[in-house]
Amino acid sequence: MSRARSGGPPEQSREEHHRRSAVANRRYPGAVPYLVHPDELQSLCPGEPPFRARQLRDWLYRKPVLSVDSMTDLPPDLRDSIRHRLWPFSVDIEQSADEGATVKWLFRAPDGAAIEAVLMGYRDRTTLCISSQVGCALACSFCATGQFGFDRHLQAGEIVAQVAYARAHLRDVGLSRGPNRLTNVVFMGMGEPLANYDGVREAIRRMVVEMEMSPRRLTVSTVGLVPGMRRLAEEPWSLNLAVSLHAADDDLRSRLVPINRRYPLEAVEAAAAYFFTRTGRRISIEWTLIDGVNDTIEQAAALAPIARRLGAHVNVIPLNATPLSTDRPSRRDAIDRFVGHLRSLDVNVTVRDTRGADIDAACGQLRARRSTAR
Ligand code: SAH
Repeated sequence: MSRARSGGPPEQSREEHHRRSAVANRRYPGAVPYLVHPDELQSLCPGEPPFRARQLRDWLYRKPVLSVDSMTDLPPDLRDSIRHRLWPFSVDIEQSADEGATVKWLFRAPDGAAIEAVLMGYRDRTTLCISSQVGCALACSFCATGQFGFDRHLQAGEIVAQVAYARAHLRDVGLSRGPNRLTNVVFMGMGEPLANYDGVREAIRRMVVEMEMSPRRLTVSTVGLVPGMRRLAEEPWSLNLAVSLHAADDDLRSRLVPINRRYPLEAVEAAAAYFFTRTGRRISIEWTLIDGVNDTIEQAAALAPIARRLGAHVNVIPLNATPLSTDRPSRRDAIDRFVGHLRSLDVNVTVRDTRGADIDAACGQLRARRSTAR
């Protein structure tokens, strides 16, 4: 399934719609609500009593809805003024997979920036995977986002709007599996969250303070930017941190994850240990398994002591093949051997359920497919 949404109100004639927008625009300024700090929403409705800004804040953060028409307690002119800018992006593609248990969006910002998010319903939780940057500068060899370079950081409002959109979708449309409320958010879409520290920090603050999500349900995934890991450890929230290791020696890791030359394994491990000590939250280690590259017994044996020292859980992700790389996913028996060896060495390990493979739901893939098709 693939459909685009225009956001226009079908029930109004074009003329009537233009007339009402013109009236609303004279009265209210043209800011995009999610791009305004929540404390400053009054600036969107000057001349209105302060409770209007509070109502708007509730609609944006506490009970997000897909369309302004559902914001029934706001005056019609105010609704009209934000009708076409409620979301800081349009929906370029919406696809569902796994019998309706997965939905993937490719959002498009007005400057053309592509933003991917994936919503996944499981029996006991509903998880949203969000993007923190448009593209990525870190060029990990197997990652579709990295293969297409870096465009820009996402603003805090563009990050949090992905969460609000998913919550609105769950409320207004729903998923075929899992709770119809968002329980978990992971920064595992496009971009390196710790390279956009301030934007990500403010987005997390809004999720926790404005949306009242538990920080224990939020996971930041990093390639191992040591200064950002240490800074995150000092924030006032008990978040989860996932570290993308992928290799247990510096030679191999520098080939797969070039930033390893600046922040080698030892420094990444020390920063992860610091995070655990400061927050009490167990680290998870991500390991994308690539055929013949990092799926050997030697790598498993070198990973085990790192994972044990950190008390970390290892998350094995079978590679999703990407257009600009010849890397292939490990074969089933190699995955079993790698995982079995880690278990025999007392390491906690799970293989990630690969969701939405048929809709290119792996990191950066939907955008990558669009770019290569052009
Ligand atoms: N930049 C962050 C978060 C985004 S990627 C990070 O590196 O952690 C989220 C996870 O997906 C990372 O562990 C990343 O290595 C992994 N990943 C990227 N491309 C992949 C692919 N083609 N197949 C499987 N996993 C991939």
